[in-house]
Amino acid sequence: MTKQLEKIYEGKAKILYLTDNPDQVIQHFKDDATAFNAQKRGTIADKGVMNNMLTAHLFEFLEKNGVKTHFVKKLNDRDMLVKKVSIVPVEVVVRNVLAGSLAKKLGKDEGSQLAHPVVEYYYKDDALGDPMIMPDHVLVFGWATQSELDTIRAAALRVNGLLLELFKNHGIRLVDFKLEFGRFKGEIILADEFSPDTSRLWDMESGEKMDKDRFRRDLGKVEESYREVVRRICGQ
Ligand code: UDP
Repeated sequence: MTKQLEKIYEGKAKILYLTDNPDQVIQHFKDDATAFNAQKRGTIADKGVMNNMLTAHLFEFLEKNGVKTHFVKKLNDRDMLVKKVSIVPVEVVVRNVLAGSLAKKLGKDEGSQLAHPVVEYYYKDDALGDPMIMPDHVLVFGWATQSELDTIRAAALRVNGLLLELFKNHGIRLVDFKLEFGRFKGEIILADEFSPDTSRLWDMESGEKMDKDRFRRDLGKVEESYREVVRRICGQ
């Protein structure tokens, strides 16, 4: 039995607790939702339960396919046991379809397929609004080494290849997503989560959004969309 000890971190959507094993922490998923650098706040009923279920399912799938992750096991509805990593302060975004901030920046409509996946890096700093950075910035500020960055980029593209196929098999277009990586005993592994909070998922038939953009843009049917993603991917 894993013993939950003190809280070590509370973010917008998750809480981390120490455990009696120094190498493992509990990642707890909340229903709180924020957007636009926390200027918009709300809750999405049972989001924590759904994101825990999806992340557990997808990280297990990724592990089986050779991607190293922090996932150890699901403990209950809202908690999973994960390896205690030191997070690389760089958010890695992979895009397959033009959408969100990139579409806005370029003054283009959302929805065109990119000829190949694009990997972008953002410096993880809420006070600065997570500014976009270049790989050279990661190196010059010492956030990761060249070899770690190579590992991160290759892992992000592998995750993209695997999840593109998986979502496609369930009628979902994987538009873009954000990943975070951490160091565990000297090795770079995938950490954090994969959920509709951190990805864009469009229904292949209707084109309907099934992700946090429903909350960001007040499109309604937020819980229902998250639930439908869980139903298709996890079969429940
Ligand atoms: N994303 C995220 N956390 C962030 C910023 C972006 O999870 O702090 C995800 C977002 O949900 C989307 C992808 O990364 O799936 C690309 O986001 P984008 O740069 O388009 O920014 P947005 O317009 O969503 O803020």
